Amino acid sequence: MAYDYDDQNIFAMILRGDIPNDTVMETEHTLAFRDIRPQAPEHVLVIPKGAYVTHDDFALNASDAEIVDFTRVAGKICALLGVQPGEGGAGYRTLSNAGDDAIQEVPHYHLHILAGRNLGPMLKHD
Ligand code: 5GP
Repeated sequence: MAYDYDDQNIFAMILRGDIPNDTVMETEHTLAFRDIRPQAPEHVLVIPKGAYVTHDDFALNASDAEIVDFTRVAGKICALLGVQPGEGGAGYRTLSNAGDDAIQEVPHYHLHILAGRNLGPMLKHD
């Protein structure tokens, strides 16, 4: 079953310029901006400009050019934030929520980049 893309989602509105965002980096295929409710001192969202819903949708259906651009932007954001462990930075976490079990809020594919404090264990259990 293919994904239906809801073009009224909040990130589609950001991409259209209907609502403002705090842009960190923009390229031909990718936009990176600060999360409106940051969960760490650094919390950047990286999104493709194309209409993809989840990581699997993007990874399986986007063009090579889109995927390369997106992946490079994510790396450049880590460099920009100065958090690359291999460069003396303190590290970071990337994650992407998809669908109901992951409680995906916005149905436009996005990668969270979180950094700036000890982020604790990957998942908290009840
Ligand atoms: P999800 O739960 O879908 O993985 O994450 C969606 C993220 O988008 C949340 O961290 C939320 O704070 C962020 N977000 C929701 N609406 C807006 C918005 O209008 N602007 C920005 N910059 N971030 C948003």
